[in-house]
Amino acid sequence: MTTSHTTQAVDTLIHARYVIPVNPKGVVLEHYSAALLDNKIISILPTTEALSLFTATESFELKQHVLMPGLINAHGHAAMSLFRGLADDLPLMEWLNDHIWPAEGEWVSENFVRDGTELAIAEMIRSGTSCFSDMYFFPNIAAKTANKIGIRAQFCCPVLDFPTIWGTGPDDYIEKALKLSDEYKSNSLINIGLGPHAPYTVSDQPLEKIRDIALESNLPIQIHLHETQHEVDDAIIQSGQSPIQRLKKLGLIGPDIPLQCVHMTALSPQDIEILSTSNVQIIHCPESNLKLASGFCEASKLLDSGINVALGTDGAASNNDLDMFGEMRTAALIAKPIAKNAAALDAATALEMATLGGAKALGLDQKTGSIEIGKCADLIAINLDALNSQPSFDPISDIVYSVASNQVSHHWINGKLLLQDGKLLNLDVKNIISKAQQWAAKIKSTDTSITNK
Ligand SMILES: [Zn+2]
Repeated sequence: MTTSHTTQAVDTLIHARYVIPVNPKGVVLEHYSAALLDNKIISILPTTEALSLFTATESFELKQHVLMPGLINAHGHAAMSLFRGLADDLPLMEWLNDHIWPAEGEWVSENFVRDGTELAIAEMIRSGTSCFSDMYFFPNIAAKTANKIGIRAQFCCPVLDFPTIWGTGPDDYIEKALKLSDEYKSNSLINIGLGPHAPYTVSDQPLEKIRDIALESNLPIQIHLHETQHEVDDAIIQSGQSPIQRLKKLGLIGPDIPLQCVHMTALSPQDIEILSTSNVQIIHCPESNLKLASGFCEASKLLDSGINVALGTDGAASNNDLDMFGEMRTAALIAKPIAKNAAALDAATALEMATLGGAKALGLDQKTGSIEIGKCADLIAINLDALNSQPSFDPISDIVYSVASNQVSHHWINGKLLLQDGKLLNLDVKNIISKAQQWAAKIKSTDTSITNK
């Protein structure tokens, strides 16, 4: 007797040596495949079964590779990539006041944001980041650039007490954010939110307005918070309360608003108590915190308190790259001396923070962050056929502790292949680099700290 069966047609079949779905945590499936239809993952199954059940328009045999969810860079300032290396080895306020803010005043424009964002996105897609959050001037231009390239992103429109090139003051910034949010409300890749810069640059009244908007229309909010001990000490001297206590009083930290808080160093036991009873999402940027000597976020302790912690690179001006593999490694390594425990923040936890944790922080965990049926196909393949990845006993440990980001060979975002065999398919790398060099030549001509070197 012969059996016959019909096969199901799909767009893409990816056969991989290993599949790491991230949910369930710590699981590694060997000789598994993913089937993609339209922009979604419709099946994850053993390769032998996939070959008999599906026919695909395009198939990929990734024999030495790990297939896993794309990484999520939950905090950054994409266009600042054009300031990469402009002012290094300086403390935060000197770096901001004497270099970054003057350079921004001189150079930030629509063209600067378009070229800088494109540079950042190219670097991120090449290094395995499928989704990023951005907070910078001209978010309209940055969103347009991301949408055109096809990367998933959240743009938190800046809100400050003072005028900048992007607006005249809080009301104007908020109005522009709402207009942009309206423009992108049915876009599947781009989310628009509000980005009050920091507690020391935004006063109570605009923060209350932002709170009301978040409650009414569900817009995400991201804020730099407790970046340094100095910020916390200053706030306590001025108002008798830590910035976290102030935001709780203003109703921004509580059970109803999933406030995305970036940095979160210098936390008192009272602060952690407030956070653990709220819906706060924490975005840990260990490399930026280290480079600016900002302080330490006790990520392991926060995770143990039941708080979601995601990872971000921050801008390339304070990192100096947008490499989430580096960020995972640094997060895992730095957690150990902080907790005085080598078991703190293990590899599976670091990987989860950089994927599903990021998706949760940005409110996108129904769509992305893990390889699960029904989620969007935001996937990367990592080639383990490299000296620094052999032998391989545990692919999760390899990814966090020894893989280099240039081992990312393939990258699908929303089902679309954007990187194949390490080559960006829809971006002109030569042109992007040439534009970055032109910007550097202009910036160099005006920053005396560089010209005097
Ligand atoms: Zn930042």
